Amino acid sequence: MNISILGSTGSIGTQTLDVVREHPEFKVTSLSCGRNIKLLEEQIREFQPAFVSVSDEKDALDLRSRIRDTKTKVYSGMEGLIAVAEDPDSELLVTGIVGMLGIRPTIAAIKAGKKIALANKETLVTAGHLIMPLAKKCNVPILPVDSEHSAIFQSLQGNAENKIHRIYLTASGGPFRTKSIEEMKNAKLEDVLKNPNWDMGAKVTIDSAGMINKGLEVMEAGWLFNVKREDILVLVHPESILHSAVEYEDGAVMGQMGVPDMRLPIQYALTYPRRISLSGDRLDLFRLQNLSFFEPDLKKFRGLSLAYRAMDRGGNIPTVFNAANEKAVSLLLEGKIRFVEIPDLIERAMDEIAFISNPSLDQILDTEKAARESVNR
Ligand code: MG
Repeated sequence: MNISILGSTGSIGTQTLDVVREHPEFKVTSLSCGRNIKLLEEQIREFQPAFVSVSDEKDALDLRSRIRDTKTKVYSGMEGLIAVAEDPDSELLVTGIVGMLGIRPTIAAIKAGKKIALANKETLVTAGHLIMPLAKKCNVPILPVDSEHSAIFQSLQGNAENKIHRIYLTASGGPFRTKSIEEMKNAKLEDVLKNPNWDMGAKVTIDSAGMINKGLEVMEAGWLFNVKREDILVLVHPESILHSAVEYEDGAVMGQMGVPDMRLPIQYALTYPRRISLSGDRLDLFRLQNLSFFEPDLKKFRGLSLAYRAMDRGGNIPTVFNAANEKAVSLLLEGKIRFVEIPDLIERAMDEIAFISNPSLDQILDTEKAARESVNR
């Protein structure tokens, strides 16, 4: 199968290429990345895509001269992202790009009839009301790549006729799970960037530390599986072995377990409904012995309760939540704010920005801008 990847130099992109490398049945036809053109050049030489896209036209010029000896073409900007999304030679698009930049290319790919291996949460969080009906209309599957959503999706197989009673969405709890609110207040950026179990990009790792990532995932699950917020229970599970579960009406709980390795959900999205071999560690339940589960502390993780509020209000408020968080995280990475200020900034933006019940794509993008400006003051 031919595939395209948005965000090929990021955490999801590089792990997707690890899966491709392992299985000759996959071929990469196009790639996009932000600014890491050094790594993109290596990927071009190894996977020989027909074309690639980078954010910046200057980087595109530089890359064109570096890869003169290859046949790969180089595009840039949103046009380039959309070209990758619509790549006529590709059957499936992996959306491993971070942020709301992913919305337009995802829409373009759905319209072009590509299967979507969805790793970009922002697309459903902010535009789920546009994306899900469009995918249905175009008869395109949205295959979740996020480990929790993949686990739910895997637990749903063979149960098309059965109603979901509840979803258990698991969370590692991040580096502050056992720390006091006081300790969290004094946390330095390097403490925030330590995730105990998962290897992820900086943005997702920071989101995980404050459980804001889990809030986004609850919203994402609501769209993917058509389940109400009250029926999605966040389950703190520090070992990250149960990757999420579905409870059916008869009380049966079906979950997916495995070692924490993103390549599995990525590969399942690529091979669905088949399963094929995958290298790496296997789960050893004898060695593991104990699994533990806790309720999340909503006082400590205020970002999660704000996410619930955003989901309950709906409309453009999840966009406000997401965009305000994105801006706050970039300010944290620049050293301009402290980690614990992130929920305050999100809350202020949620209170300030006017509610729109059924926002168009343009209104979503306007809301994004307004939320970022609110945080930047
Ligand atoms: Mg996840």
